[in-house]
Amino acid sequence: MPGYGPFLLCDFHIHTRWSDGQLTLRDVCDLYGQTGHFDVIAITDHILMERDLLAQAGRLLTLGGRHFSLTAAAFPEYLAEIEAEAARAMERYGLLVLPGAEITQNHLRSKKNSHIIALGVREYISADQSADAILREIRRQEAVSIACHPHHRTRMRLEISTCYLWEHRKELAELVDVWEAANRDDLFSVTSLKHYPYIANSDFHKPRHLYSWKTLLRAGKTWTSIRDALRSNVDVGLMLYRGAAWNAAAAPLTVEAAS
Ligand code: ZN
Ligand code: ZN
Repeated sequence: MPGYGPFLLCDFHIHTRWSDGQLTLRDVCDLYGQTGHFDVIAITDHILMERDLLAQAGRLLTLGGRHFSLTAAAFPEYLAEIEAEAARAMERYGLLVLPGAEITQNHLRSKKNSHIIALGVREYISADQSADAILREIRRQEAVSIACHPHHRTRMRLEISTCYLWEHRKELAELVDVWEAANRDDLFSVTSLKHYPYIANSDFHKPRHLYSWKTLLRAGKTWTSIRDALRSNVDVGLMLYRGAAWNAAAAPLTVEAAS
């Protein structure tokens, strides 16, 4: 199977069972690794606000069985598991697995919502602060900030629009390292009107999300090289990744046992 050299095939936005994803961290690494195509992925589980109403509703629906959010207390364990799985994924698949978190603000009926990925995060970042403060903390940690689905607008009752960063781009653009121009099946064409740095991600929550928008990046397969390439945003491609089964709704993807 051909790769995409000299470009790296990357997905910087993936959820696992540490928040609201369907698969364990190991299963995610095996799923991407077993394609034989991917070079870099980032695990970016949600950090929610203390009083996130959607998470509270979700906990009720699942009778408290799921959490949906990383906590400050569990954060070191989360990073340690990513590090351990990253070592295994590199050895088995040559897959670089990066730590991240999606700092998620879901105010109902508010224009202040933003979802911001901290890529290369080292310490817990609270979602209970302004977008400006979150972006400054990401920079302090020398991580990369990704403005997630910045033009997502919805009128569905229990879905959240996340346009705050885009609507305040003039003030905040200095602090945003890259903007998600494409997320899963959506292409945010309005972003093409501005000269900002862009990438594309799957926002993976379940196996069929593997087939979605991705980023091609010309960089070395190390965190610092990828960080520099994301910020300079030279030699970047937005790519719609599809395997033979991309539209086979009747044939769900499974991870082969790889213990
Ligand atoms: Zn999000
Ligand atoms: Zn997400």
